[in-house]
Amino acid sequence: MKKPLVVQKYGGTSVGSLERIRCVAKRIEQTKKTGVQVVVVVSAMAGETDKLVKMAQEICDNPERREMDLLLSSGERVSSALLTMALQSQGIPALSMTGRQIGLQTDSVHTRARIKQIDAKRAKQALKNNNVLVVAGFQGINEQGDVTTLGRGGSDTSAVALAVALGAAKCEIYTDVDGVFTADPRMVPKAKKLDMVSYDEMLEMASLGAKVLQIRCVEFAHKFKMPLVVKSSYIEGSQGTLISKEDSNMEQPLVSGIMYDKNQAKITLKEVPDQPGIAANIFEPIAAAGLSVDMIIQNISAEGHTDLSFTLGREELDEAMVIMRKVAKKIRAGNVSSDSKISKISIVGAGMRSHSGVAARIFKSLSKEKINILMISTSEIKVSCIIEQKHTKAAVNVLHKAFKLDNKPSITKKTIKKPKPKIKKR
Ligand code: ADP
Ligand code: ASP
Ligand code: MG
Repeated sequence: MKKPLVVQKYGGTSVGSLERIRCVAKRIEQTKKTGVQVVVVVSAMAGETDKLVKMAQEICDNPERREMDLLLSSGERVSSALLTMALQSQGIPALSMTGRQIGLQTDSVHTRARIKQIDAKRAKQALKNNNVLVVAGFQGINEQGDVTTLGRGGSDTSAVALAVALGAAKCEIYTDVDGVFTADPRMVPKAKKLDMVSYDEMLEMASLGAKVLQIRCVEFAHKFKMPLVVKSSYIEGSQGTLISKEDSNMEQPLVSGIMYDKNQAKITLKEVPDQPGIAANIFEPIAAAGLSVDMIIQNISAEGHTDLSFTLGREELDEAMVIMRKVAKKIRAGNVSSDSKISKISIVGAGMRSHSGVAARIFKSLSKEKINILMISTSEIKVSCIIEQKHTKAAVNVLHKAFKLDNKPSITKKTIKKPKPKIKKR
């Protein structure tokens, strides 16, 4: 009978040193002993991808995305080869594989490519031969055979895609925290771990800044109903958080989490002529460039003119500013300015659908801390506010408390900052 298959993904800190890599190899050995087949996906060792990005920026003002992809994919290759060697030295048959070798095909949008399909023939053969496969995450190849990468945090998506392609029973994401929390536990010491989260809720959290899972990985898992478990690679016997389809029948909590995103920027156009068609003139070229606008506000018009602000991801700011300067000239608007020292704070909860007063409670809590709100947007299950970035930590903590999410007793900073592996060193 065919053995069940588990895909395990280990993030950057989990393979951040040779000692950590040995711990991961031990964990894989234990999993294998339970009688399952194991496919492992690894990230680059902690900090390596950032280092490569920095080197590229130092050598060239505007590096070509194609070359960035070849460069960035190297980090994951290093960790997959090292982990494979660690397994082999424990007497476990193992084989490292790059994106190309595993047959992961993507489109050609360099540095944020999307997976098209996985040709898993070679992987299946290697598994039949009783190997642990150690796959370099975050990378694939396009139709031309060029290396592509899947966007920051993309190893999560590689793992889920492989789990689906190989028919795995589940996909485990090992990281440096013990699951998905009501807020980033590094920012909010009293954040609570959630035992279960639905795909929809996780999608909302990931897209509002909870970087514990890449958004596309959650979309993928949802689409193919692949159970995802997020847990700590440091804690023995960690149950972590299960992300699966169920929206529990129980009454949903008013607020399930507070997220923040510092990777935001705001553009303001002054003295925009207040006429029909102007908004289209502004946002059409932005959309045509493939940039995605998040919040928009327009002030009340005075003497036929108005000010208009919108937000988008920080990495899209430079491109958007070039476009906006052209647009401002064309529509005879005034000055164009930008601000990237902002944060988006979001309160998420399915229970908001049937409750009023959430926004009021947010505004009251922030005003008590003298935090000014620059922009607001609401939907059925979330409220987001743009604030000055320097207030991020205070805002997230005060809202966490205001919505009664604080854990008791609190998780100490020490446990989170320096998790001690419980597996004995070799
Ligand atoms: P990895 O290298 O394992 O992929 P990441 O740094 O990408 O790890 O993601 C884990 C980090 O996500 C945690 O260290 C934590 O600071 C952050 N994080 C942000 N929001 C949340 C949340 N709601 N729950 C858990 N972790 C979160
Ligand atoms: N190494 C890549 C990054 O730092 C991909 C990943 O870790 O998932 O974004
Ligand atoms: Mg990650």
